Amino acid sequence: MEKFYLNPFALLQTANDKKVLFLTNRDDLYFEIEDSNHPLFRAENTGDILGLIPELEDADRQALIDEGVIALTRFERKQLLEDCYQKLNLTETFRLMIFPTLNCNNACSYCYQEHENQPRMELFDYNAIRALVAKKIDQGIKVLFFNIMGGEGTLVCRDLAKHIQDIRELCEESKVEFICSMTTNGRLLRKEQIARSLLDAGVKSFQITVDGPAHIHNRCRPAIDPQADSYDETLKGLLTLKKIGSQDLVCTIRCNHTLETVVEENLEEHLKSMAGHFSGDERFVFYNVMAADLGGEIDGSILVKGSERRKKLQEVNQKTVDMGLTLKQDTGLPNGRVCYAAMENSIVVMPGLKLKKCSVELNDPINDVGTLLDDGTLQLNDNLKKWIGENDVPDNKCTNCRVAPICHGKACPYKSIIKGEPVCPDVKLDGKFMIRNLSK
Ligand code: SF4
Ligand code: SF4
Repeated sequence: MEKFYLNPFALLQTANDKKVLFLTNRDDLYFEIEDSNHPLFRAENTGDILGLIPELEDADRQALIDEGVIALTRFERKQLLEDCYQKLNLTETFRLMIFPTLNCNNACSYCYQEHENQPRMELFDYNAIRALVAKKIDQGIKVLFFNIMGGEGTLVCRDLAKHIQDIRELCEESKVEFICSMTTNGRLLRKEQIARSLLDAGVKSFQITVDGPAHIHNRCRPAIDPQADSYDETLKGLLTLKKIGSQDLVCTIRCNHTLETVVEENLEEHLKSMAGHFSGDERFVFYNVMAADLGGEIDGSILVKGSERRKKLQEVNQKTVDMGLTLKQDTGLPNGRVCYAAMENSIVVMPGLKLKKCSVELNDPINDVGTLLDDGTLQLNDNLKKWIGENDVPDNKCTNCRVAPICHGKACPYKSIIKGEPVCPDVKLDGKFMIRNLSK
């Protein structure tokens, strides 16, 4: 038999008594082997595939050749990775994240920011942002991702909506697609006028956090005003979006799970409440994550730790689906775990026009990458290189990694800078299947 080579991005997993074979650099290939008499059923891990090739029937062997799983010549790993990364289309898209204000009407326990007496964007900030967008349009972008972060943007909604509309119109005049999203605690969206102004301005998607049932949410995400019921107002905000949002609205409901929220009765109470309102409405998608210590005042003892995190996440996701709720699409697809902070076409603008790459670690000087000038020029400093690095996976622990096309060693450039080597993501490839061996 001829000598075959295995695609460096082939991955074989055992899940639910099946063997699943796919290529991590493609999202359109997925073999499931259920027949226990099939030779590949005996493969314990990816490396066993080549040894079983001689036992395959000709048609099966040919299928693996045709799909690029095996070949008679060595695969060009570097080229395959580059081809995959190119699909991010970094020259025709631009991601602009703005913090219209750093003030917030919540005081979440895990929040890393101060909540009051913080700066907000003024007209000169918005004028510079507009000039930057105009420059990018001149440079030929086809899509602008415009993300509103915070702080709590709804606190400055009147100004903000006007400027969102202005940027949207600028894009529309040049036939540039404008995709606008907003991360908000959702409380002020209960006021229909505020929700409508943002929707009308062009915000198409929202991310709103509900950290479990009311008694947990209100402890984790209390309102600064002790009279206000944060959970109730957030829920009302979600229901306003449900009522007035159009069919193309996307509202991600995030839950940061802790040892408390994953307790069966708490999880049941949370999901039952959500299902009562949003089951069957696919505009509302559920994004479960395990809470992490982001430098706020979170009690470390309530965090789910170690290997339990993946297990619990799987259980919570399964329960979410069982309740008839729509789960956020996983990101275990090619390029799905490349953080925007590692991409050269992405920038964060703060009030006062300081530039950052990461929208989370705002206080670390490593995240100061320059200043946006009045005329829209990005004046960038040497820190930028630390975030972007090279486009190909660096010659290090990623060199033989089978899931490199998913993260390219860029899953969290911040952690990677701090650690001095790429930090692996907790990759999930499918609602049911987790990658067991992230590398090699
Ligand atoms: S660099 Fe890390 S912390 Fe910052 S946004 Fe990306 S994944 Fe999050
Ligand atoms: S960071 Fe980890 S998962 Fe990503 S390419 Fe490198 S070794 Fe693989």
